[in-house]
Amino acid sequence: MGEREILEDTTRTTGRDALKKNVQAAIALSGAIRSTLGPKGLDKLLIDDDGRTLVTNDGVTVLETAKVEHPVAKMVIGASSLQDKIAKDGTTSTVILCSEMLRNAWELVVQGIHPAVIGRGFRMAEQKVIGEIEQLSLSGNKELFKKAVISALSGKGHESLKEIVSELSLKAVEIVSDKDEKIDRSKIKIISQTGSSIKESEVIQGLVLAKKRIALSMPKNIKNGSIMLVDGGIERRSFSSDMKLNVTTPGVLESFRAKEREMLTNQIDKLKELGIDVIACKEGIDDSVKSELAKLGIQAFRRVAKSDLDLLSKSCNATIVHDILSATKENVGECLSSSNKTLGGLEHWVVDAVGSGATIIIRGSTVDVIGEVERCFDDSLGVVCQMYEDDRLLPGGGATYVALARLLRRYAETIPDREQLAIEAYGDALEVIVRVLAENGGMDPIGSLLSVVSKQTSENSNRFGINLYTGEVEDMVDSGVIEPLGIVRQAIIGATEAAISILRIDDVLWAKQDIAIPELPGN
Ligand code: ADP
Ligand code: MG
Repeated sequence: MGEREILEDTTRTTGRDALKKNVQAAIALSGAIRSTLGPKGLDKLLIDDDGRTLVTNDGVTVLETAKVEHPVAKMVIGASSLQDKIAKDGTTSTVILCSEMLRNAWELVVQGIHPAVIGRGFRMAEQKVIGEIEQLSLSGNKELFKKAVISALSGKGHESLKEIVSELSLKAVEIVSDKDEKIDRSKIKIISQTGSSIKESEVIQGLVLAKKRIALSMPKNIKNGSIMLVDGGIERRSFSSDMKLNVTTPGVLESFRAKEREMLTNQIDKLKELGIDVIACKEGIDDSVKSELAKLGIQAFRRVAKSDLDLLSKSCNATIVHDILSATKENVGECLSSSNKTLGGLEHWVVDAVGSGATIIIRGSTVDVIGEVERCFDDSLGVVCQMYEDDRLLPGGGATYVALARLLRRYAETIPDREQLAIEAYGDALEVIVRVLAENGGMDPIGSLLSVVSKQTSENSNRFGINLYTGEVEDMVDSGVIEPLGIVRQAIIGATEAAISILRIDDVLWAKQDIAIPELPGN
């Protein structure tokens, strides 16, 4: 069978044609989101199959929601999603950078440079950038952290919201960092309450659950207590509808009840024996045992969600038991305090333990408002956690990208081979960020880029970029437009990775939509 027949149901593009189509796909993709970059970026209205709508300014959300079929476009979206996972920000930049790298690569291919040479040059440029980027950074402090969070939230929500969100995120992460060296993002819980204003939002040290102790006679606050978590309850078995109890002799029912009673008593005795101060059950706790638990000074909670039991288990270092009677000392956890507090007019249970983090209570007037605030918190917590792990910050507003491009131009001059051209092209691609930021802010893209380059050169400083709020070329650190090093670095790595793998493709085989069922031998 010849190649033609094997590939009968396939459309095939090869060599330059394939690369051209792939570059076009990447450019089209970045064209769809470039208008969202930066604080003056516009929003997109997304409508899904079911007609649900979502207004967003987030590049990765747009791309993940849009039904993109092109395999190369999917590779670029993959880079952006990875960015979202690793760095929590910089997703739009990743896509724009990648498509610009490919656009510039294509120009070199047209001039007769082989894609493999371009790939090598890009790799050299990337290594240079990664090696030097730290030199451009400055160490953050609390004040700079806050500015970085506000920069990261640029274009999302209004000013006062950003202020509140950044303040609370920093506070929450600080609580977690006091107890742990490594910040575990899952230790920050977010709960929401409708009905009041965002300004009323707060951060509480410990785990907050919308629960109240089952009897007021139980202690309200417990300090340094032992806690037991039960995936079950302390209750009589309820009869299921198809269950039969055959009463044949007088007194059977009484003895059955007595046995049940005895089992409850045994469970309470066990709690006493283990010295339990706090108990949380996934299921119910019989009203009849409330007063006995209260007499023992036990604080009890019932109908606690499994997910909350898991959080408690992690916080208090307790293992969840299925049966109280077989529980041991090892299963019991410890809490620093367990208290009942009224928050926003509702009763809450607040547990502080060695392994517990913080809870952010978001308040807002409507579910929609809260949804927007939650997304803001998601972004800002990601950025704050990142900064606590690596406190190095870089000037934003395109400043760092321009500085790297200048550096690459000098580096390229030292490379005598054709890779020199690719390194220059890579540097030019990094400058796309300033051009797009300017464009979105209604400024002249080329003029702005040139002013930034000349200002950086004349002042011998990598901090100059464009501030879209003033429309001026400014020292970005002074203007408070800064971003974590990890985010910029990851955006560059992700974009380069995707661009190089796309450059390597020289053959695209598309299966045709309605592939005929192959005939079986012998027919
Ligand atoms: P991404 O998804 O890539 O994070 P954003 O829409 O969040 O995209 O935009 C981030 C870019 O906006 C960064 O390059 C950042 O430096 C820039 N930026 C933020 N605030 C300003 C500002 N006031 N002036 C200029 N650029 C800004
Ligand atoms: Mg961002």
